[in-house]
Amino acid sequence: MDSPNQIRIESEMAAMDSSENAVQKLGKLSYMTCPECGGSLWQVDEKSNFVRFRCHVGHGYAAQDLLTEEIQQLDKMLGGALRASEEIVKTARLLAELARKDGSTVTLDRLDARINASMEAAATLRALILRGNSAFHNVL
Ligand SMILES: [Zn+2]
Repeated sequence: MDSPNQIRIESEMAAMDSSENAVQKLGKLSYMTCPECGGSLWQVDEKSNFVRFRCHVGHGYAAQDLLTEEIQQLDKMLGGALRASEEIVKTARLLAELARKDGSTVTLDRLDARINASMEAAATLRALILRGNSAFHNVL
């Protein structure tokens, strides 16, 4: 694809005046998703050393910026998973306390297993988050 045509298509996309067909002319489908809208990303400028990505909406990322966005999204997801695991522990402990009062040993056993599994998951997630942050700063 010649450069002026590519620039025109990308300009249209930047103005949010484009379709999925236009972005398909820019490059090949990357099978990755746009961090901003979740749409498919197309890889453009394959022949140069500078790789960029565009979604059909018009969000654009240099490869390095895409990596930064992906790492930030992973950190958010891991943080969300950690919070969910910690909340499961709190709620299961509350229910276990009630089961203990009722003498419901079957329920108590299941809740204790859930508490242990969620505490283990939280510890693993916490370690991943800490290791991820240090890896992020070492790489970027
Ligand atoms: Zn997008």
